[in-house]
Amino acid sequence: MINSPMKSSTIVIVGGGVIGLSTAYQLARRKAGRVVLLEKGAVGDGSSSRAAGITTGLLWSETGIRARKIGLDIFRQLSDELDGYTYHDEHGCLNLFSPDMWRGREPLLPQYDRIGIPYDVFGADEISRRWPALHPPEDVIGLFDPSGGYSEPSEYIPALAERSRQLGVEVREGEQVEQILVRGGRCAGVRTNGKTIEADVVISTVHVWSLALWAHLNLRLPMKSFVHQRYVSTPLPEPLSIPPVNANIFEGYVRPATGNRILLGTESMDRQEWKVDGTDFQMSKVAAPIDLRDRAVETVAPFLPALKDVGWESEHVGLLSFSCDGEPLLGPVKELPGLLVGASFHSGGFSYNTAVGLLLAEFVVDGKPRIDLSAFSPDRFESEEVDAFLSTTVSQSSAVPRRH
Ligand SMILES: Cc1cc2nc3c(=O)[nH]c(=O)nc-3n(C[C@H](O)[C@H](O)[C@H](O)COP(=O)(O)OP(=O)(O)OC[C@H]3O[C@@H](n4cnc5c(N)ncnc54)[C@H](O)[C@@H]3O)c2cc1C
Repeated sequence: MINSPMKSSTIVIVGGGVIGLSTAYQLARRKAGRVVLLEKGAVGDGSSSRAAGITTGLLWSETGIRARKIGLDIFRQLSDELDGYTYHDEHGCLNLFSPDMWRGREPLLPQYDRIGIPYDVFGADEISRRWPALHPPEDVIGLFDPSGGYSEPSEYIPALAERSRQLGVEVREGEQVEQILVRGGRCAGVRTNGKTIEADVVISTVHVWSLALWAHLNLRLPMKSFVHQRYVSTPLPEPLSIPPVNANIFEGYVRPATGNRILLGTESMDRQEWKVDGTDFQMSKVAAPIDLRDRAVETVAPFLPALKDVGWESEHVGLLSFSCDGEPLLGPVKELPGLLVGASFHSGGFSYNTAVGLLLAEFVVDGKPRIDLSAFSPDRFESEEVDAFLSTTVSQSSAVPRRH
């Protein structure tokens, strides 16, 4: 934890994905000082522009549920505040479970009630009545999140970057951080392209590049990366009215996309983790075999028959990051005062970004965030645990399963 609130300061954010941008925006709103965001490519260059942008608050841990509740409110506010961005919550978000999977989720309903996060439980009949385009299996259980929804990353990222600039953030693209500087046992700034930027606080939001960026600090956290992919169809012949659906029972998800299209995403649980080979790694190197898409269409089409009538226009492939307990790494690093991290948001970093930006800004400005984030603390692991996790190479099916 940052011990005392900051007065006047320079804050450097490394990484211009949705986590870094959202943090910059929240710091600027709080007039936290000089805020510099450094991105080695263009903003959104990493996983953020590749995300499906689906959001739900119905998670599995107290901390996650509380954080998402905050974040969903911010998505709605940003929809009013950002030019060219709309948060699509008109249909909520539907999460599907088999009876077997539901046995794991149903015990969480009292927790949702206690925290005050809205939900409904639907059977197959109610799902088909509300959205006739969906044909769910008879025994499905639908956990409906009326506050959930989706964003188009291609609208959200430029709009958030522009608003942050208007609020005074120095958003510098094409500037790669080579080193995080340490002086007198605390973080003192960064070195980029041969230049030094002095800072009181450095916030690392570099996702799968984290271990490579921190190597010179001897900072190791238990993170693994896995390839993930999603596709956008050609426009449909007829208007389609469906919510975004996290269809774990089909190892995938669908949502409406701009221009009466369908976005389809699929898991590939058997694939081995991706080892990021250094700070120069480019996300565009990551590819997925196209038969994954064709298999996903086959699996999901009985549920959404409109999938049979479409062609496919685009493919986005990127990396997810999982920690060893499946929860994010969020907050200050005790060993190195002045350094905060926001990383390993499993398949839900887009959904988390609005809350994470706010909570990281509160660490910096107020000294502590409004909710208890100890369950996400980067300091929660023993070094033996980290070493054991990092020394293995596993497939995604062996990582803690976390979907949105
Ligand atoms: C196909 C796909 C679908 C997804 N769908 C969803 C979804 O529906 N909902 C959801 O919630 N999540 C989804 N996700 C997950 C989500 O995309 C990520 O969790 C989220 O984008 C992570 O954001 P980030 O800002 O941490 O990372 P990134 O967007 O990867 O940003 C990190 C940035 O750091 C920059 N960087 C790295 N090193 C340096 C350096 N040394 N100096 C300067 N800059 C540097 C990179 O260029 C990059 O732009 C999906 C992911 C994929 C791949």
